[in-house]
Formats: sequence, structure tokens, C-alpha cells
Amino acid sequence: MTRRIDRKMGTNTQLAHIGNDPRDFHGFVNPPVVHASTVLFPDAATMAGRSQKYTYGTRGTPTSDALCTAIDHLEGSAGTVAVPSGLVAVTLPLLAFLAAGDHVLITDSVYHPTRNFADTMLKRFGVEVDYYDPEVGAGTASLLKPNTKVVFTESPASNTFEMQDIPAISKAAHAAGAIVMMDNTWATPLYFRPLDHGVDVSIHAATKYPGGHSDVLLGTVSANEACWPRLHQTFTTLGCCAGPNDVYQVMRGLRTMGVRLAHHQKSALEIARWLETRQGVARVLHPALESHPGHALWKRDFTGASGIFSIVLDGGGEKEAHAFLDALEIFGLGYSWGGYESLAVNVFLGDRTVRKEYEGPLIRLQIGLEDVEDLKADISRGLEAARG
Ligand SMILES: *Cc1c(COP(=O)(O)O)cnc(C)c1O
Repeated sequence: MTRRIDRKMGTNTQLAHIGNDPRDFHGFVNPPVVHASTVLFPDAATMAGRSQKYTYGTRGTPTSDALCTAIDHLEGSAGTVAVPSGLVAVTLPLLAFLAAGDHVLITDSVYHPTRNFADTMLKRFGVEVDYYDPEVGAGTASLLKPNTKVVFTESPASNTFEMQDIPAISKAAHAAGAIVMMDNTWATPLYFRPLDHGVDVSIHAATKYPGGHSDVLLGTVSANEACWPRLHQTFTTLGCCAGPNDVYQVMRGLRTMGVRLAHHQKSALEIARWLETRQGVARVLHPALESHPGHALWKRDFTGASGIFSIVLDGGGEKEAHAFLDALEIFGLGYSWGGYESLAVNVFLGDRTVRKEYEGPLIRLQIGLEDVEDLKADISRGLEAARG
């Protein structure tokens, strides 16, 4: 029997079987966790040549192959590398495709550590960095310079959830000879496939939904045919491979990601709709809500929504935001998201160059797998405390 998994099958069927073939390892359902630096060669000629599949631990193992093959299947990419964190998944491709004298355009609403990397290391290496309004769309064309090599996107935006017109941005970038990268952590390849919409390099903090349990750090970078050789070469040059246990744990998380995401989606949307009717909430920033300015883009391009969004409190400042957070009993105060547990953070907007007006402080909510009624009761406690 040959098991063929194709994209016509349901998502959960694909997730249950992609990556490894049990028959490759004595029928065990899961791939082996290969702890390795050295790989032996049968003879000197093989060692001198390039014919052996595995040659050294940093260059790939059956464990990393299982995960990268699975991600390639989901992303529709030519190749994927697994790296030690989501942040490395951002910095590695930027290092791969930029050099001194080049110009990079980065969305102003980018994940803050991405901005920090650009403003410190990229600038030190002689790369010109500009930030653009995430809602610029086809207007990207007027921002491109002759030396623009990369347009970096993230949609929806970190913390403020603006939607980007990825096909329009890609079209403008390609016309000017630049490539497009996308941090696709929010949607995962289950709800948005960047390469199908013109993106060249898709980035994922697998720490979030693929990991799913707040107990592992990992990143993946997937490239199309044209960009894969350069990405892979930079990966092996830097030696930034992920450890086998972490890779295995993400592979394990991937099997249940579809089921978990569906639950996150349903609960988050129910709570977001309910929040729109609550006193003390000025706005809910969730792209799957009809009230969201980017809703049409989300509906056109995405097939689902994950479990993280923000609310804007109706007036007040840091004092009210802290009162909200301190009143929470189920939601934890902590960074990251995508795990089974609910989290809340006070959003920092001080790094933005494109200024937007909000009615009050922003609170970002990661809706976990707990029961919705309990989460609503907890949020109500927060809103009441914020009103004083
Ligand atoms: C969390 C996150 C990252 C970084 O992932 P880590 O594994 O925590 O380094 C990158 N991009 C986005 C959008 C994120 O939310």
C-alpha cells in the first residue's frame, strides 16, 4: 500500500499524515528523534563525493526532514529550513537576501524584534531601512527605490491587526525586481498560503500554533523555487539549525494544529463579537469582524482566523490598562501566544512611525482553549476594573 497525501484531502487528514512515512523507520508512526553531529560514510569515495543524503548534523536529519517536508506540503514551497526560534526565521532570510547598499521596505506594524534587528544589525551592515504604512497596498510602487531588494510584510499586523494587500504589494515589488517576504505566523499556512499570493519567502514562528503548548521555541522559513538555493546556502553557512527535540515537538504539535486552530478561531470570534457590545470597549481589532477596515481583504485572501486580536479601551491610559490586566484571573500576563492558555498584554505602540489614533489603550488577547463563558467572565472583571 502506498499512502498518497494530496491537497485535495481535508486539512486534518493531511496534518495527520504529512512529513514522514512510517515504513521508512520500522513502521513506527512517528519519525525518529535523531541526535547527531557526526554521520559516517561507508568509504572514502562516498566521503569525498556528494552522493550521501545525510552528511552532518547541521545539514539536516530524518527528524528535521520530516518537519520541513510537512511544512513544504502546507506552504507549497520548494524548500523549508527549521531554525531555533521564530526570530531567527525572520533574521535568516533578511541576511540571505540583503547586502550593503541595498534598501529594504518593512511594514511599520511589524513584530517589534524584527524592527529592532533592522534598526541595529541591518543598518550596521549598511542596509537602508524604511517603514511603510501597512495599508499602503498598490501604493508600494511609489516607495520602491532602484536598490530595493526586499519588501517585508506581516498580515494582519502585530498587535494592531491591519490587513495588507499581499497580492498588490507582491505585484509592485516584483515589477521593480524586489522579492517579498511575509511573516505568516498569525494565519499559519492553514488559513493563508503566502506563496499562492505572490510571496517569495514565507516565515513562521512555529513557537506559536504549530508548537501549541508554550513549551518550545522554533521557526520555519519556506521559499519558492527561485529563492530556495540562496536561503538554503545561508542556512548552512550560518549553521543555525534547530535541535532535534524541539523539531520533534513541533512535528507532534502539527498533527493537532487544525483541530486546535478551529477551536481558537471559534472562541476568539465569539468573544470578539461579544466585546463589540460591551461598555468600555471602543473598538475590537479582529479582521474577521465585519466592522474591521481590512475585513474585505481578509475575506478575499484568508480561509480562517486564528485566536489573537486586540481591543481598544474607551478612553483612559496606562492606569486603566493596568487595572484591566491586574483584574484578570484566568488570562495570564505574558508574551507569545498560540498555546492552549489565554494571555493578555498591554500593547506598546511607541515604536511606530506611522501614527494612528486610538480612543484609549490597546489590550491584546490570545484566546486559549478554555471555555468561552469563563473567559468572558474574566474579561468582564477586567473591563469593570478599567472603568474604576
Ligand atoms: C512570536 C513571533 C515571532 C518570533 O517567534 P519566537 O519563536 O518567539 O522568536 C515572530 N513573528 C511574529 C509575528 C511573532 O508573533
